[in-house]
Amino acid sequence: MRAPRGELRVGLGHKDPGIRAQGRSSINIFPDDRSVDNARLSGRMPGMDLSFSAEDETFRREVRTFLSEALPDGLRAKAEIDAPFAMEDVMQWHRILFSRKWAAPGWPAEFGGPGLSPTQRFILTEELELAGTPQLSPFGLVMVGPAIMQFGTPQQQQRFLPKILSGEEVWCQGYSEPGAGSDLASLQCKAEDDGDSFIVNGQKTWTTYAQYADWIFCLVRTNGKVKKQAGITFLLIDMKSPGVEARPMLTIGEQPAFCDTFFDNVRVPKENVVGKIDAGWTVAKALLGHERTLLAMVGLSQRLLRRIKRIAAETTVGGKSMLEHGAWRGKIARLEIELEALKMTNYRVLAGAQLGHAPGPESSILKLRGTEINQRMYELAMEIMGHDALSWYAADGVVPAAEQGIAPQFCYARANTIFGGSNEIQKNIIAKWILGLPSGK
Ligand SMILES: Cc1cc2nc3c(=O)[nH]c(=O)nc-3n(C[C@H](O)[C@H](O)[C@H](O)COP(=O)(O)OP(=O)(O)OC[C@H]3O[C@@H](n4cnc5c(N)ncnc54)[C@H](O)[C@@H]3O)c2cc1C
Repeated sequence: MRAPRGELRVGLGHKDPGIRAQGRSSINIFPDDRSVDNARLSGRMPGMDLSFSAEDETFRREVRTFLSEALPDGLRAKAEIDAPFAMEDVMQWHRILFSRKWAAPGWPAEFGGPGLSPTQRFILTEELELAGTPQLSPFGLVMVGPAIMQFGTPQQQQRFLPKILSGEEVWCQGYSEPGAGSDLASLQCKAEDDGDSFIVNGQKTWTTYAQYADWIFCLVRTNGKVKKQAGITFLLIDMKSPGVEARPMLTIGEQPAFCDTFFDNVRVPKENVVGKIDAGWTVAKALLGHERTLLAMVGLSQRLLRRIKRIAAETTVGGKSMLEHGAWRGKIARLEIELEALKMTNYRVLAGAQLGHAPGPESSILKLRGTEINQRMYELAMEIMGHDALSWYAADGVVPAAEQGIAPQFCYARANTIFGGSNEIQKNIIAKWILGLPSGK
């Protein structure tokens, strides 16, 4: 039993004609504060219309048509079984999206972006996730690209942005070190002043895609004598520079996902500093906010939920499909409800984006709940698969083809609650900045 495509029908128009009349975009699920106050005073909260505008529905159809025509057969076959995509798959899809101008939905038109509204960006991301297409590497498009737009010089913007957008240059992120993860400001990788250049020595770890990358954006220590956040610089380093070495590690999901990256007397021109020397912490923080809004995984989890329902429907226990057993139905329903609640939170962030608000601490809620739900879905999928969950990519006929991707993805999903700032750290952020609790230090 396959859930029908396109079952998601939620949008964000406001039913209150007064609010519509203010001429905002059609997806304000939250009226402005004054309207809320007025509604409270009159004992009436305005209703909400969770349907997309006709224009946005047209855009969604456009995306679906594009996906049905442009996704190459080889990638579609992998998407069907959730098999991991190789780097060449990712870059092939990057080039296809670039040719449609959709590689970087959030980039403004002045830097070659498509100039989409927040709702269209949301729809595009959701449809790509629902279709299971390769996820483009975020390091250039979502992290260093926007950082260069915000903090870079015009020369840096001209030099780097077009090649990030086209995928000609692949980027990786050099933040974490063996002794600096959650407490990132403790980083020790050192850049010493040498006239027009810095000389960089040290190690980064967990550097995803470093083995493929042309460039790495790094946080380096340029001053050890001041408060630790005050002595950090944001530096762009050419991975082909003499003295850079990336050593890949293999994950339990069988993917060579990340590397230890070493810097041995690497010379980096000072023109590669983004922002000011010793002021890299400001750039780093801006970039982390963008990183976390990526991690709600709503479309991915919706897709996984459909797969779980299908596997449950096709698996028989005691003469009945698992979907007909109350206990299994209950487990699936609980997760589906949690996913629906997450979707609503995602819409709240979207509504804020429509009003021009940058993502705030609420992106930590999306990261926390999105990654937990996704992990629990893979756990449930493994439970439902029973002994089929024990092996993957086995000899023909051992594990049904459509389920072969589940076990490796389950393994890789363990990382969801660690990367992008561990979930414990997200809880600290929520406690301090949303709940107003003391920081505990
Ligand atoms: C798959 C994957 C890909 C990654 N890719 C990259 C990358 O490309 N570039 C990059 O720079 N980094 C990357 N990372 C690193 C990631 O950002 C760090 O793993 C993460 O920030 C946690 O740091 P750590 O591993 O050093 O753990 P630690 O900081 O040592 O934390 C260990 C444990 O202690 C908990 N903890 C720590 N401090 C606190 C606190 N104050 N309160 C409560 N609990 C706390 C943590 O939640 C965690 O459970 C990646 C990680 C993974 C798993």
